[in-house]
Amino acid sequence: MSVEDIAIVGAGITGITCARALSGRGMRIRLFDKGRFIGGRLASCCTGDNMHFDHGAQGIQCSTPEFRAFLEKAGAKLAHWSIGPGDEWCIGTPTMVDLSRALASGLDVLQGVTIERLQRDDGLWHLFAGNDMFRARQLVLAIPAPQAARLLGPDHALHDRLSAVRFNACATLMAGIDAPPPFTTRLGRGAVAWVANDGAKPGRQGQRLTTWVAQADPVFSARHVDTPLDELARIMAPELLRVVGAPEEALQHAVAHRWRYSQVSVPLGAPFVADAATSVIVGGDWTLGPYAEDGWASGREMAGHLLARGVDER
Ligand SMILES: Cc1cc2nc3c(=O)[nH]c(=O)nc-3n(C[C@H](O)[C@H](O)[C@H](O)COP(=O)(O)OP(=O)(O)OC[C@H]3O[C@@H](n4cnc5c(N)ncnc54)[C@H](O)[C@@H]3O)c2cc1C
Repeated sequence: MSVEDIAIVGAGITGITCARALSGRGMRIRLFDKGRFIGGRLASCCTGDNMHFDHGAQGIQCSTPEFRAFLEKAGAKLAHWSIGPGDEWCIGTPTMVDLSRALASGLDVLQGVTIERLQRDDGLWHLFAGNDMFRARQLVLAIPAPQAARLLGPDHALHDRLSAVRFNACATLMAGIDAPPPFTTRLGRGAVAWVANDGAKPGRQGQRLTTWVAQADPVFSARHVDTPLDELARIMAPELLRVVGAPEEALQHAVAHRWRYSQVSVPLGAPFVADAATSVIVGGDWTLGPYAEDGWASGREMAGHLLARGVDER
């Protein structure tokens, strides 16, 4: 059985950035992602009747020209969405997932593969997914810290540092409403801390209904962390109708999604953690902050660290 030089668990912006920076050096690099689509929390959902919702990050803010240049590699799949004077976000077209797909183009990504267990034997990592097993010399975990801590297990040297990182949950509602939109985005609290007309994004015009995404604040989301999703939709939908000023009968589609690990509240404070003794490095947005740009910075730093350590010298 073949051995990867580097196995990257997680094909969100962190894992993709890391893989891109390491590729082209003759190494075998493979990404694994449990999602049906890549991109992780840069997520989108499409309905059978062609409604599009970005139910993770609604857009990406760029604070540095380097990050903007990185996103521009997605070419035609990148658009700019202006939500107010001087407030322009980068978004994927037609959805956020397309942005990640474009950025991951040319990379070896195994989708729909959940790495359930890790084992280290004879200087190699063994990654177990159902009946499959993959082997790699170097392991990169580009997943939320609590998930990385669980995979590595309580005896691993990095476990306690990873366990100190804290995340907020986020309850999200995707709704199709048969009424014109009174605004594009609005900030509030509780179930409707952020409300956006997703159909106002570039390239989304012509949908039958007005498509809204509502994101709840951390307090509401923590209170409903175990509420079944259909019940959550029933609780959030009236709040959304109130904010957009639409009658109950205008609601034609309401589906809730829950992010247990939405955005970090207590970050690590460094762009990654690594353990040379077991050839593992762990990163993600949560190392530095709550934004996609933090994941990009972490992915880039992890690749730099591995190259400086001579991971491609075999
Ligand atoms: C509701 C919400 C709103 C947000 N708003 C903004 C915003 O306005 N601006 C902004 O910049 N950012 C925002 N973010 C944050 C942004 O989405 C993240 O910072 C970024 O997407 C994190 O990327 P990542 O690659 O570090 O992690 P992720 O995107 O979480 O990627 C990790 C990947 O690992 C995979 N994975 C996990 N465990 C396993 C396993 N065991 N086996 C295989 N695969 C696994 C997952 O499927 C996932 O694809 C928001 C996030 C949410 C949820």
